[in-house]
Amino acid sequence: MITTKSPREIEAMRQAGKITSMAIAAVAAAIRPGVSLRQLDAIAEKTIVKMGAVPSFKGYGGFPASICTSVNDCLVHGIPDDTTLKEGDIISIDCGACYKGYHGDSAWTFAVGEVSEEARHLMKVTKESLFLGLKQVKAGNRLGDVCHAIGEYVESQGCSVPVDYTGHGIGTQLHEEPAIPNFGQAGHGVVLKEGMTLAIEPMVHAGKPQTRVLSDDWTVVSKDGSLAAHYEHTVLVTKDGYEILTIDHDVKEEDSIYG
Ligand code: MG
Ligand code: MG
Repeated sequence: MITTKSPREIEAMRQAGKITSMAIAAVAAAIRPGVSLRQLDAIAEKTIVKMGAVPSFKGYGGFPASICTSVNDCLVHGIPDDTTLKEGDIISIDCGACYKGYHGDSAWTFAVGEVSEEARHLMKVTKESLFLGLKQVKAGNRLGDVCHAIGEYVESQGCSVPVDYTGHGIGTQLHEEPAIPNFGQAGHGVVLKEGMTLAIEPMVHAGKPQTRVLSDDWTVVSKDGSLAAHYEHTVLVTKDGYEILTIDHDVKEEDSIYG
């Protein structure tokens, strides 16, 4: 069942989203060569807990940390460990916070120092595909309009969309219906309604779309070793469009990590 949220629930989700974005911003400020993935995880967890929320990911299906740290060819679900970042890496930080029983979920890919042109292209395309998808979010549009906008743009730019990983509805559960693939047919699928809350998250490879899961049963990497990027916002469907929930309105636009 796809739920719509009441004004009270939406307010809790705004807070959860704000805390999620604050945690990602705190991590972003610490990203540099030499920092370990475990240190980044600790920064996120501290930020979430200090704001009176709970890390959504920790313990979810047995996941051992508060964020996913996915470096270079890792698409999603990288587990923070003692690996340190190097100049030229890219890292996707995926984070969730639960506040008063409601979740926020957001992801962003960051460059560690100077990165290759291929990495910059992949990051730009993936971020743009998120906002092209969001442009289709509005009461009365169909889910396929969102999925199609993401997938078509990604492929037009020479990148690819792994088919096994999708966005999702979100609320009292981190993952609710509907699944939101990063490809699809415009004009098809569920009709979007005011009050739905959705986590839209293009996950993109610079090379071929096939993935494989490492022996830790979490880490998803591109099969061909190509770079991967991931951008995600939790949004509220409104009458005329959408409201991004995973944002901190107290941060000035020029200081924001979110372009
Ligand atoms: Mg996420
Ligand atoms: Mg998500």
